[in-house]
Amino acid sequence: MISNHVIDLSHTLENDMPVYPGSDTPKIEQITSVATHGYAEIRLNMLTHTGTHIDFPAHLIEKGFTVDSAPSGRFYGAGFVIDCRMGKSGKIIRRSFLYQYERKLREADFVLFCTGWSQLWNTPKYNEYFPMLDEEAARYLTTLDLKGVGFDTPSADPVGSKDLTVHHILLGNNIFLIENLTNLGLLVDKSFHFACFPLKIKNGDGSPVRAVGIVGPA
Ligand SMILES: [Zn+2]
Repeated sequence: MISNHVIDLSHTLENDMPVYPGSDTPKIEQITSVATHGYAEIRLNMLTHTGTHIDFPAHLIEKGFTVDSAPSGRFYGAGFVIDCRMGKSGKIIRRSFLYQYERKLREADFVLFCTGWSQLWNTPKYNEYFPMLDEEAARYLTTLDLKGVGFDTPSADPVGSKDLTVHHILLGNNIFLIENLTNLGLLVDKSFHFACFPLKIKNGDGSPVRAVGIVGPA
């Protein structure tokens, strides 16, 4: 009997879900049903960066790690949530704010920024002016031994950003990004493992994931 507690950190994939401005919304079609055909099957038609998903280096970098070339151990490890809610960090998360967590950050494989923004999912505000790291903070994260950095916001850079500075800094250092996370508040001050296994898509630059936090037995 597994007594670990698994906390779902993913949004539901569905038609009409929020997507990055200008992106296609997913088309999720019921192709067959049990009542009519004896079995149910759904056709998914969506971009690799839909919903809660991973960005791989290949998203921005020629010959960067792809979904299928990254070892599966890269999708699981010790997680640490930084609470940035209620103006704790300000909308721009700076290196000076992160220093206080240095010891915990050095022990973590994944650092997840809990900004509380996921509460705005399914509202028009979700894609506007969300909190993010500044360049110095992103560079600081590359000095740690991280597998990934996660956000409960649509992106690591502002919507419409042409240079995608934070993406380039992190992906350029083989630190994967997980975007559109939710429920991170449930993991503040908790010790847990984080998992975000992608679909094994040939040459994939990203993939939707079922991200979870696994809290050990009390
Ligand atoms: Zn993405």
